[in-house]
Amino acid sequence: MGKSTTVVRAGTILAGRELEPMTPGTLVIEGSGISALGPSRSIDAPSDATVVDAPRVTLLPGFIDCHVHIGFADPIEVLAGGVTTARDLGWPPERIHPLARASADGGFTGPLVLAAGPILTAPGGYPSHAQWAPEGTARIVDGPDDAHEAVALTAAEGATVVKVALDESAGPTLGPVTLKAITDAAHRRDLRVTGHVHGLPELVKALDAGLDELAHMLLGPDELPGPLVTRMVRDRVAVVPTLSIRFGPDQTRATGNVARFAAAGGTILYGTDFGNRGPRPGIDAREVAAMARAGMSGRRIIASATVEAARALRLAGAGSLEPGKVADVIGVDGDPLEEPLALARVRMVWRGGNRVARLRNE
Ligand SMILES: [Zn+2]
Repeated sequence: MGKSTTVVRAGTILAGRELEPMTPGTLVIEGSGISALGPSRSIDAPSDATVVDAPRVTLLPGFIDCHVHIGFADPIEVLAGGVTTARDLGWPPERIHPLARASADGGFTGPLVLAAGPILTAPGGYPSHAQWAPEGTARIVDGPDDAHEAVALTAAEGATVVKVALDESAGPTLGPVTLKAITDAAHRRDLRVTGHVHGLPELVKALDAGLDELAHMLLGPDELPGPLVTRMVRDRVAVVPTLSIRFGPDQTRATGNVARFAAAGGTILYGTDFGNRGPRPGIDAREVAAMARAGMSGRRIIASATVEAARALRLAGAGSLEPGKVADVIGVDGDPLEEPLALARVRMVWRGGNRVARLRNE
């Protein structure tokens, strides 16, 4: 028996890194990869292929959620909601890394999981006392001498990113020298550093230390000042908004900060903080709606969860629909370029060429 072939005749395909619409478009999945795609008239279905006719559906790359705590759910629910890769930003290493390793297997019923493991923090710092965090979620770094060892251990356990907490509202924070020692040690291992950052002084400290990414838009009430926006864009610091964990006026303020950063040309990576209160498993309608309110177009929202996220997470095989890429593909009902909320109407999901049989309920 050879590799199975599936031919999807879709209303539209968002093709390549430019997410160029092909209407109507046909995508061919062979085994675990994409073997061809193009305007429907130019693609012939092999006689033994499974053909899926989906004239109302737009096909796009599976979503990459850059901030989850997947231990709070059954991974299949996350995958069934259109998220084919999930980056976990805080969980005990002995629990998350075995799951992440298992997720790389084609038969795993869930998204590909990448993981930070523990969150590096000061003695007594966030999330040492956080209700949501199981024992072992925080890793204490007590001064710069401790930083090298903490990063080495975190990397050896399997981290693909290093997470730090800088939350002065929830306890002591890492000092500037310690933080710099952490980012330097991570960068020497070619690992990015992402940060949970509350207030402006902590943000400045983080930028001075060479932080690569905010794991949330600033969590405190401060407005991001223009010069800091400019600096973050210049230094290519990415932001994972996680607006769906914010509510009321707090969400409005955070959305305003995302809007200013986005308007200045900043890199935004889709991420929900799933597991926290707010986001539901899979592509989250409230997150998408808030990103749209921040002035992001449908195309830019999709790119933040696909092309841009794959680049930032160095997933060379994912993030776009092109021949030779892994077949992480979703189909949504409608035109998400025109109407971003169509992204939450997931009608079909393939991960690594395997179709997910049962999707989430609306
Ligand atoms: Zn989180």
